[in-house]
Amino acid sequence: MVSDALTKMLILQDRDMKLQQVEDALLTIPQEREACKAKIAKLKDDIESARQRIKELETRGKTIETEMASIEAQIVKYKNQQLQVKKNEEYQALIHEIEGASKKISDLESDELEVLYELDEERKRFEEEEVKAMEFIALEETQIIRLDEREAEVKGELESARFAKTAAEGELDNPSRSKYTQVARGLKFPVIVALSGHSCSGCHMRVSNAIDSEVKAAQEITTCDNCGRILYYGD
Ligand SMILES: [Zn+2]
Repeated sequence: MVSDALTKMLILQDRDMKLQQVEDALLTIPQEREACKAKIAKLKDDIESARQRIKELETRGKTIETEMASIEAQIVKYKNQQLQVKKNEEYQALIHEIEGASKKISDLESDELEVLYELDEERKRFEEEEVKAMEFIALEETQIIRLDEREAEVKGELESARFAKTAAEGELDNPSRSKYTQVARGLKFPVIVALSGHSCSGCHMRVSNAIDSEVKAAQEITTCDNCGRILYYGD
């Protein structure tokens, strides 16, 4: 009986699809987990770079202050020298030095203001971004936990899915089994589909009248003349 063989093939297909789902999940879950980990690493990197930018600005601020202090000390020295020099030209030269040094200090002061402003902005941005990044990291971590759970579940299903497929294969006679195997190879599920209104519901193409009659008669296993899927009469 063709209908009996078809029923058994449909059961086999059902179990085959289930097994494939399990195997696909076992392949994709690790990839999804890696993607989550990569996102977390990127977020942590971003936080670290922002922290680094703040550190650099702080260092720049400190360098400016050190430089200013040393120039101020120099100015004090020049002023002391002014008290000791006898010649007017030496005195004038020191005035010139003091002016130069004062100019440097005022430049450094505006540099320092700029750095402090930048630092302030960077710290504000950092605080906001860190909060956001930590939220995203928490989401990714939750997702990893879900994936781990799903993976454990799917691993547990693999054995029974294989067993169920083998059992369904055992129900088929040899010709039907090899027909199924041959058709299933290289085709996307479902490989057993309804023929309805002259069209194969696998590839949606119209089949020839001969094929249509053959499927309707249901005397043998008939395949779509376009895609090769096994057909059963749908309406
Ligand atoms: Zn087809």
